[in-house]
Amino acid sequence: MICVPITARTKKEALHNIERSCQFADFIELRMDLINGGRLEEFISASRSNSDSVKIIVTCRKKEEATLAGKAAYAKSTTRNTKEKMALLKEAIIQDADFVDVELAEGHALIKELQAFCAKQSSKTKIIISYHNLKETPALTKLKQIFHQCAKFKPAIVKIVTTAKIVEDNLTTLNLIPYAKEHSQKIISLCMGDKGSISRVVAPFMGSYLSFAVLEKKGQSAPGQFTVSEMKQINELLKSGRIAPEAKDLSAQMSQNQNYILLGNPVGQSLSPLMHNAALKKMGINGTYCAFCVQDLRGAIQGIRAMNIRGASVTIPFKVAVMEYLDDVDGDALKIGAVNTIINSNGRLTGYNTDWLGLILTLQEAMLIKNKTFVIIGAGGTARAAAYGIIKKGGLPVIVNRTQGKGKTLANEFNCAFYSLSEIGKIKADCLINTTPVGMYPKNTSPVKAAALNNYQYVMDVIYNPLKTKLLKEAERQGCHIISGLDMFVNQGAHQLRLWTGKEPPRMLMKKIISERLTQVE
Ligand code: NAP
Repeated sequence: MICVPITARTKKEALHNIERSCQFADFIELRMDLINGGRLEEFISASRSNSDSVKIIVTCRKKEEATLAGKAAYAKSTTRNTKEKMALLKEAIIQDADFVDVELAEGHALIKELQAFCAKQSSKTKIIISYHNLKETPALTKLKQIFHQCAKFKPAIVKIVTTAKIVEDNLTTLNLIPYAKEHSQKIISLCMGDKGSISRVVAPFMGSYLSFAVLEKKGQSAPGQFTVSEMKQINELLKSGRIAPEAKDLSAQMSQNQNYILLGNPVGQSLSPLMHNAALKKMGINGTYCAFCVQDLRGAIQGIRAMNIRGASVTIPFKVAVMEYLDDVDGDALKIGAVNTIINSNGRLTGYNTDWLGLILTLQEAMLIKNKTFVIIGAGGTARAAAYGIIKKGGLPVIVNRTQGKGKTLANEFNCAFYSLSEIGKIKADCLINTTPVGMYPKNTSPVKAAALNNYQYVMDVIYNPLKTKLLKEAERQGCHIISGLDMFVNQGAHQLRLWTGKEPPRMLMKKIISERLTQVE
């Protein structure tokens, strides 16, 4: 349901906007802290005569909010002290407004007084208790405490609005919606600010009682608000497109839709959305895959649960850090010490690692692993996945790393040999695998001198952009059999899709799409 705030500067303008809003809105909110001139009684009666279905909320907020809405100048003349505010809300109750909105910050005594007044008047007016944070979005635990402080008054609706400083704040605040549902409490919950706009669209679909939209951009009572027509267009798109129209709220819609995300930072260059969206479409799965550039990992993980995202890929730099936020980690991922895939099963999050399998399947397409020796350059997450997989398949890894301490730790953990990167010329083995980012687009560099490549029959690079790195080009010149990171990328992605959907993904299509994109870049 859409609520239009009436914030006009003059009585005439307010009455005009009430008339217009009554044609589109389910609710109007009379912002008596912003309307300059006119009497509440006139506005309520104008609303009633324009529509008998539009519900009226009467609100009188603190001055800071007017400043935030860019309406400080005329809020000065409408600012009321607490006594005047209470008198105004009581008048709204006498006038049978559908709702009055009282701020939690007004305190226990005033809220109780208003409730008692309402009961005494036998008014049909219901009470909204609201909390607005104009600076930030507090942590979810703090928001839950605030929710309970509001809910203990047993209001008709709790309203909690915060300011999104980063996109993940939307996920934190939206988490309150299922939480309120669990406590059988109606809620309005969303984020203000440009970074909070998404919550204004999603909140009603998740079960927020309503969302706010303005007649025109200049009528914004809080930053980030959409216009009514923008909101209606977005809602129509959501309903007519991939989201089933019969669904009552986004939780239900998200359950029918199978949506997936990528968590990383940065993610702008990632080709996973291109590959996964093509695969989902081909597999006939109703859903999308989007990349999120994450700053607050904990918030992002809470968002996966709140928005019923079915699964996630995890990339640099969160593959290790993410483990502490999950409910379970599968055995392979636990031994590797890194997670690149999350499955959400009714709110229970389990971590997997598909990098090791992606790498092993790729190697197996080119060579036998058993009893062969593999020099792994690097000691990060991918090196761990490689060492784990090679041992599991009967091969022998050797770790080579720039930072000796890190390399030795990994070698000790997997009970294999370690050499520093400067010693690489001394080693001879069946296969060399680069798991460092050295050589990744746009840099044309190699982690190893060309002469050292003579010592290997096979050379693999986990980098897939460019398709043929400097390392692979030089290895090819030395007569080595080369293996690009593209197949690993496709294989690990295909296994993610298998885990998420239980269906066989279109590997050939996935590979074609990525290689075509990378060939264009080259
Ligand atoms: P990571 O955990 O950050 O580890 C990177 C490793 O590379 C570290 O051991 C680091 O050495 C080494 N390194 C970094 N810069 C170096 C340099 N200039 N010279 C020498 N060594 C250097 O990263 P990761 O998650 O393992 O990812 C590594 C690469 O694998 C990335 O390029 C990623 O895109 C790619 N990858 C590809 C796939 C695929 O499907 N094809 C899958 C996963 C990852 P120190 O210990 O000395 O810092």
